[in-house]
Amino acid sequence: MNILEFVNYFPSEESCEDFLKTYRENTGIYCKTCKSFSKQYWFSGKKFFECSICRRRTSLKAGTVMESSNLSLQTWFTAFLLMSATKKGFSCLEFQRQLGLKRYETAFNLMHKIRALMGKRDDLYLLKGMVEYDEAYVEKATRKEVQERLKRGKGSQKQAIVAVASESTPLEDPTTGKRSRHCGFFKMKVLTDVTKETVEQFVEESIDPETVLFTDKNTAYVNLERLVEEHIKIKSSPDSTKGALNWVHVAISNLKRNLLGIYHMVSEKYLQNYLNEFVYKLNRRYFGEKLFNRLIVAAIYPYVQHSE
Ligand SMILES: [Zn+2]
Repeated sequence: MNILEFVNYFPSEESCEDFLKTYRENTGIYCKTCKSFSKQYWFSGKKFFECSICRRRTSLKAGTVMESSNLSLQTWFTAFLLMSATKKGFSCLEFQRQLGLKRYETAFNLMHKIRALMGKRDDLYLLKGMVEYDEAYVEKATRKEVQERLKRGKGSQKQAIVAVASESTPLEDPTTGKRSRHCGFFKMKVLTDVTKETVEQFVEESIDPETVLFTDKNTAYVNLERLVEEHIKIKSSPDSTKGALNWVHVAISNLKRNLLGIYHMVSEKYLQNYLNEFVYKLNRRYFGEKLFNRLIVAAIYPYVQHSE
């Protein structure tokens, strides 16, 4: 959905409520008491569903990411539109201005709730096939430094460690015989350090066991072969962007540019959320205007997912 379509489709709070109600009716409303998708009646005055069996009430926003928020649905929906509108993303100040929010904190919390949602969504999938893995080191800021930056202070910069993995399928041009790699889905997670434990935990949580995994040689990777079908260790070279770790390195340099361009320095506390947004968009790079539709569904979907 583009901006013009959005304005036509959601001109009012009521239109947003109608959308949410219809969507939830179509996917089924789960009754926590009956533990089933029971038949529900809609009460338009107070805007809740009522279970036809036990009469338990479920509010329109219950279980969605918008639950317990005082912001209007229209604000939320517009936030989804803004968050999906650009590849680079908005700065928080710009986001606040565009949504007409009075407080910076409101905009900040809203953005981070949506980023957390994006991460949750991507956590549902494991990387498969052939996968490249490496770590990235990105500048981070302490809370104090983030505050002082606004007053022009720069402070000492430290680096945060990010685990980066990419699906990567080798291709060979049948006519020229030229080899390249096609990238699929990506994952990025903040690591506390690079040890066997942290890397293995990342691989277990992010990569399918039937994968062929490519990494460089690092002592932290010695036992990874136990977690995947095959572990291929390659020599890292200065020109590593052309080798087997091409796509993780492309992603890492794009990530660094993105963090620098919009966020300057990111505190470690929120880094995972920024990564969520970056990777969510990267994984849906061919979606174009459909990104909004996916995001809004993801915002409602957790309810159905986690209620079973
Ligand atoms: Zn019930």
